[in-house]
Amino acid sequence: MPLLLLPTRSLPLNRRQALLGAAGALALPMSIWPASAAQPPAPELWPRDLAVPGGVARLSLGPAPARPLAQAGALPLLVLGDVIEWTALVGIALSAAPGTASITVKAADGGAPRQLAYRVAPKQYSEQRLKVSPKTVDLSPADNARYEREREHQASVMATFTEPMPLAASLRMQVPVPGRRSSSFGLRRIFNGQARNPHSGMDIAAATGTPIVAPLPGRVIDTGDYFFNGNTVWLDHGGGLLTMYCHLSAIDVNPGDTLQTGQRLGAVGATGRVTGPHLHWGVMLNRTMVDPALFIEA
Ligand code: ZN
Repeated sequence: MPLLLLPTRSLPLNRRQALLGAAGALALPMSIWPASAAQPPAPELWPRDLAVPGGVARLSLGPAPARPLAQAGALPLLVLGDVIEWTALVGIALSAAPGTASITVKAADGGAPRQLAYRVAPKQYSEQRLKVSPKTVDLSPADNARYEREREHQASVMATFTEPMPLAASLRMQVPVPGRRSSSFGLRRIFNGQARNPHSGMDIAAATGTPIVAPLPGRVIDTGDYFFNGNTVWLDHGGGLLTMYCHLSAIDVNPGDTLQTGQRLGAVGATGRVTGPHLHWGVMLNRTMVDPALFIEA
């Protein structure tokens, strides 16, 4: 099909629709996705492309008759698009070193894998040094044992990788709760001279009880009360795109529930290790926490 080699942007919309119509059989609709999946993709592909530690690289894989398989190391990547152009979305770890990185791409019907290189630009996140009571830094043996158990469970939740979204799905997210959004993603925190994990989500200040809604269609894959995160809900949006909601005062969903955009999942609270009510919102791609701000309009 030589037509598929035309550059994406030169295709008039009706031509693109005709090509996509022919490729309709490639769509993999899931019950969590709205039924209108057979339209052309949104002109703007979300998230925004920002290849820095904690960001997302959008890598064009070109045209192909079926969704290619892409991996970062052993981790499967989210691949979106259509027969005209597929795009891999790569979550870049906050701990990633700037420089050249690469992914592996394979055609859906097999064949030799190829490497696709991209550049990770440096980004300096701010640093916060705090002196706090040693009690809040050093966990008791019982708390530490609980945390270790929870960490194992969380790792199994984070490994969720289900069918990616259909051709026309947009990943532009609705903000899950109205309120002041901090820009503290990536903040490096040093308590009593000891470096902690950097802040890997977005904090949104809101009063206890404020409803939290799903930012995209998704399936609830975990709920629980965790030592640091308090009452927590995880949503799976397909293809390794997961979102996490922490410190809730109420959880209104159960694992297995399917939510549409805007459906309530719980309420803002101050459970877990926090000093005041807020939502900690995490967005994960290929088991890597990335900046939620890239998925919403500025
Ligand atoms: Zn937070």
